[in-house]
Amino acid sequence: MEVLFTPWRYSYLTSPKSETNAECIFCTAAKTGNPRETLTLYRSAEALVMLNRYPYTNGHLMVAPIAHQARLFDSTDASLRALIRLTAEAQRILSDVYHPDGFNVGMNFGQIAGAGIADHYHMHIVPRWAGDSNFMTVTARTRLVPEDLGVTFDKLQPYFKKTANE
Ligand SMILES: [Zn+2]
Repeated sequence: MEVLFTPWRYSYLTSPKSETNAECIFCTAAKTGNPRETLTLYRSAEALVMLNRYPYTNGHLMVAPIAHQARLFDSTDASLRALIRLTAEAQRILSDVYHPDGFNVGMNFGQIAGAGIADHYHMHIVPRWAGDSNFMTVTARTRLVPEDLGVTFDKLQPYFKKTANE
């Protein structure tokens, strides 16, 4: 289990330290008029999905509630439902587009647990392939990120648009 929830620790270590008055990236994504710039693939009234700017693998997504909240138990039922529903959609879309061998899906709460942005909780969805970077390469600070984020965005966004219109 420890290994499962270690991958995104890397993002925490390498993300620029957030300035105290810097806007939360999820809140920015929740109201941006430029989804591509913020890598926001889809947004509803309750939840959004975006690409991780420091991906662990291709297609590393994050699903977050629109509400700026740090803990699951601060959320409304509608928000929780939307979050898990969007997580399920994201997993389906990633399966269709990237055909991964498996997934790590999980959440970190608090910086001690590896949360890069502790004030606004979010679900990580990390597709995994046999032979992709493993725990050892993460601790050695070596990443395997062959695909440009803009390419990933353009590949995935139409699927989320389609989902929204269904
Ligand atoms: Zn926020």
